[in-house]
Amino acid sequence: MQPVWLPRHGLQHLINVLRDRGHRVVGPQVADGAVVYRDLADASLLPTGWLDHQDGGVYRLHHDPRAGTFDHVVGPHSLKNYLFPARETIEAWSRTPDGWQQTTPTYEPEQLAVIGIRGCDLAALAIQDRVFMGGESIDVRYKARREKLFVVAVNCRRAAATCFCHSMGCGPAAGPGFDIALTEVGDRFAIEAATEAGEAVLADITGRVSLVPLTPDEVASVRHVPETLRETMQARVAEEGKPRPRSLDTEKIRELLFENLTHPRWAEVADRCLSCANCTLVCPTCFCSSVGEVTDLTGDEVSRERQWASCFTLEHSQMHGANARPSTASRYRQWLTHKLAGWIDQFGTSGCTGCGRCITWCPVGIDITEEVAAIRESPASSPPLSPS
Ligand code: SF4
Ligand code: SF4
Repeated sequence: MQPVWLPRHGLQHLINVLRDRGHRVVGPQVADGAVVYRDLADASLLPTGWLDHQDGGVYRLHHDPRAGTFDHVVGPHSLKNYLFPARETIEAWSRTPDGWQQTTPTYEPEQLAVIGIRGCDLAALAIQDRVFMGGESIDVRYKARREKLFVVAVNCRRAAATCFCHSMGCGPAAGPGFDIALTEVGDRFAIEAATEAGEAVLADITGRVSLVPLTPDEVASVRHVPETLRETMQARVAEEGKPRPRSLDTEKIRELLFENLTHPRWAEVADRCLSCANCTLVCPTCFCSSVGEVTDLTGDEVSRERQWASCFTLEHSQMHGANARPSTASRYRQWLTHKLAGWIDQFGTSGCTGCGRCITWCPVGIDITEEVAAIRESPASSPPLSPS
C-alpha cells in the first residue's frame, strides 16, 4: 500500500483506532528516568522532545525542543517483556478434601498493539519467533500472544552511540514484521501498512483524519531517512578515541569465537564483570527461563511459575551436583559465544541484533563490540582458561 501522510495530531487517532479495534495499546513514555513501554491512551504521553544519551553503563535523558516524537532510541524494554514476560504462572493447584485439583485459569492472551518498535527489535522478534515457535517444541503461550500482536514500527532517524544494528543487518530501517511503519518528517509522519490488519487500521483512521498520499518524490525522500542514518553509522564518527556509533565485524565470527575459547580476554573481561545478569535481562533475544513451584503460607495453594533465568547465575550451569561454569570468565564466554556463534548452529541466525542495550545497561560498561574486536585483534594461541 502506498504511504500516506499522517499529521502529528493523527497519532491520537491511531491510538484511538487501535483501542476501538480491541487492542491494548502500549507505547514509549518517559518514566523513572528512561523511555519505557507503558499502556498508552493519550498521544501527549509519547516522549516528544526527549533525547537519550547512551554509552557504556550510561543512560541519561534530556529535553530538546528540536527533537521529534521518536528521536529517542531503544530503552530497557522490548517486545520480549510482553511476549515472554519476566514471570508468569503456568499452572496452579489447590488442595481439596478429595486431593489436589488443578485450578489453572484458561489462558486467553489479549490483543496487544505496540507503538514505536525499531528495526533491531523487529529482528529480535523474528529471532524469538524462531526460538519459541520455529522448531518441534512450540511455546504455546508465546505463540498465542504472538498471534494477537499488532506492531507499529518506526524508522530510526537518530542512533545512540551504543547502536550497531547497521553492522548486524538489522537496522536502522524497520525490516519485515511490522503491520504499520512510521517515518517522522517535520511535523508529520509517513505511514505505510504491510499487512491486511495494518491496512484495516489505516482505513479506520481515514474516516477520522485526512491521509494524503505521498508523491513519488516524497516516497523516495522518506525511504532515504533511515538510509541516511545508516550511512552516518557506517562512517563511524570518532569521538574521544572511540568510534560512534559502534559496529561489530561479523566476518567468520562463529569460527573466530570457537577457535578462541581459551583467549586471555575472557579472564580480563571477568575482572570487570559483576555477573549481575543485566545484559541478559535487557537483551531482546535472550530466552532462558527456569520453572519453580511456589506455595502460599497454608500450603493449600501451589503455583508453577516460569521466570527469566540468566547464564550469568551459578545455578544456570549446575548439573548433577557440579557446576559446569564456575567462573565469571566461563559464564561471560558462554553468553557471548552462544549469542554470536552457537546461536548460528542452533537457530541459523546470530542472537544479536545490535540494539546496544547490553552495553548501556551493564553497570560497568562492558561492551560486546569491544570484546569481539579485542579477540579479533589477537586471535587464538592463548593459554587455557583457569578452571575457577
Ligand atoms: S547482545 Fe546486546 S546488542 Fe545484541 S541484541 Fe542482545 S542486548 Fe542487543
Ligand atoms: S557483562 Fe555487565 S551486565 Fe553482563 S553480567 Fe557482566 S557486569 Fe552484568
